[in-house]
Formats: sequence, C-alpha cells, structure tokens
Amino acid sequence: MTNYKSELVGVFGHPVAENPTIVMQEAAFRDLELDWRYLTIEVKPDQLEDAVKGLRALNMKGINLTIPHKIEVMKYLDEIAPDAALIGAVNTVRREGDKLIGENTDGKGFVRSLVEASINPDGKSMVILGAGGAARAIAVEMALAGASDITVVNRSEEKGAALAELIDQKTAASAKFVAWNKAYQIPDGTDILVNATSIGLFPHVEAFPDIDYNHLTAATIVCDVIPNPPDTIFLQEARKKGCETINGLGMLVYQGTIGFKMWTGADASADVMKAALTKAFGT
Ligand code: NDP
Repeated sequence: MTNYKSELVGVFGHPVAENPTIVMQEAAFRDLELDWRYLTIEVKPDQLEDAVKGLRALNMKGINLTIPHKIEVMKYLDEIAPDAALIGAVNTVRREGDKLIGENTDGKGFVRSLVEASINPDGKSMVILGAGGAARAIAVEMALAGASDITVVNRSEEKGAALAELIDQKTAASAKFVAWNKAYQIPDGTDILVNATSIGLFPHVEAFPDIDYNHLTAATIVCDVIPNPPDTIFLQEARKKGCETINGLGMLVYQGTIGFKMWTGADASADVMKAALTKAFGT
C-alpha cells in the first residue's frame, strides 16, 4: 500500500524564522530515506498551551523548543526526564504512546562533542563562563558524566550562584561561583574551559570573553558553544596558547542527532548534519 503520510516533528519558537535546525534534520531524514518532515513553527508565548494540544492532535512525533518556550512548556507535558528536571528546561519533546516526555539534549550534545574528540569528562575540573540555559544544560550533564568540580563564572551573581548551588547540592560534583567583574584568571589545574555565553555570536563576531589569556596554558581544553561562526576569536586565541579547541557546531549537531534518535529510533549521520549546517551558515 502506498503511504502518503509523512511523520511530523519540528520546532516551536518566537521568533523562530532564523532557526537553522530544519536544515540539518531534513538533511538527515533524506540521507536515511525517512519520510519525515521538520516544521519551523512560530508560536507566540500565550499560545504555547494550544500549540502543545495541536501537537498531540496532529499526532506529531515530537518537537524542539526554542526561545522563549523551554521552561514554560514543562507544565503542558506528561513527564520530564530527570536531567531535564535538574536543568529546569526542555528543548526536545518525544512521544511514548500518548505521553509527551520532556528532554534536554543541549548538554548531552556538548558531552558527546567532547567524547567524539576522545575527551572523557570523568574526573575533569571545568570552568564555565555563563549561567544561562546553555550553561545550565552543560554544567548538569558534565556533572552527571563525572566531572569532579565545576566553577561557574557569571556576570549576574544571582544566576551564577544558583547554578553553582544546583550542581553542588544535586549532583556528585562540587561547584562554586565566581562573580565576573574583571578579566577572569583561569585557575591552574583547569582541564576544560567553556564559553557558554552568547559573546562572539554572529553578528558580534569581534567580541570575546574577558579572561586573562596570558594565563591560559596548553593543559586546558577550550570549548565554545557559539555555533555561528564556529571558529570564534575565543577559540583562535586559545589555539595561540597551544590549547586543543572544540567548537559549538559539534554541540549543535550532536544535540540534533540525540533528538533524532529519540524521535525516529535511527542514527543520523553527524557528518551529513554538519555539512548541511556549514552550508547554511556559509562557512
Ligand atoms: P541565555 O540568555 O540564557 O544566557 C546568556 C549568558 O551569557 C548569561 O550567562 C549572560 O550573563 C551571559 N552574557 C551575555 N552577554 C554577556 C556579556 N557581554 N558579558 C558577560 N556575560 C554575558 O542564553 P543561552 O544560554 O540560551 O545561550 C547562550 C549561547 O549559547 C548563545 O550564543 C547560543 O547561540 C548558544 N547555544 C549553542 C548551542 C549549541 O548547540 N551550540 C545550544 C544552545 C545555545 P548574565 O547572566 O549576566 O546576563
């Protein structure tokens, strides 16, 4: 029998038009000859509840959430995965029968990008710049993956202190907060340094985090969450000090492959997704 029905997933956001996820997910569907569609859907904040009802009614297989829905969506779902509950945000919804389950793949994508570069988070000492959504997801997943201690460096004290307290109290890692009000000096013994702020994101490509670059040594692996441009000034400066660097394209692609697997059960090609994104970013 011919099947004319495609399976549907997508993203709810506002604004959402510039979200490039469709490019990598549809490239992966085509690559595996799956008859699935990824829809980029504008959902205003006061219509999120109706949108989730619509997702159920249309039998969609799942959805990604982006700004400003990642926290709000949690109250409309049937279950929240334990790590997403700790992070306090959901970026991916998957379906189990009639149940909608909230997951967070951002931090998992970051951890996967390290593992793919043969870096084991276990026992590592990490400094993370930022305490927003990306930083929370990364800090929680790194702690769950065995990082031994995490220093949260953030401009706003309230958010930074809250993240350090969450890691310290709810995971096996120890954590502390440092207020970011001058050039931050990376402590000796830091294995992994992550920029999880939006500093350096297109179009502000000349910006870079305020750290003491002279104090950075090749012993530290330096990571950026910024996917566009992938090679930020932060990473370029780190390489000048001999550091191994990991860019934000990996995190973006792997959070996508993890979501893809949750929805379809199949393994997307990270290379296909990366090529599609790189083409879309013109890099
Ligand atoms: P949020 O708005 O939740 O958090 C932004 C963070 O950046 C806050 O900690 C904020 O500090 C800090 N920050 C912003 N500007 C400055 C500045 N000038 N000086 C010091 N600190 C600053 O954003 P998200 O966490 O959602 O996103 C952060 C970045 O991560 C974005 O660029 C996004 O593109 C990227 N990202 C990448 C992903 C990937 O897959 N590669 C996935 C998700 C996000 P404060 O608290 O003081 O305001």
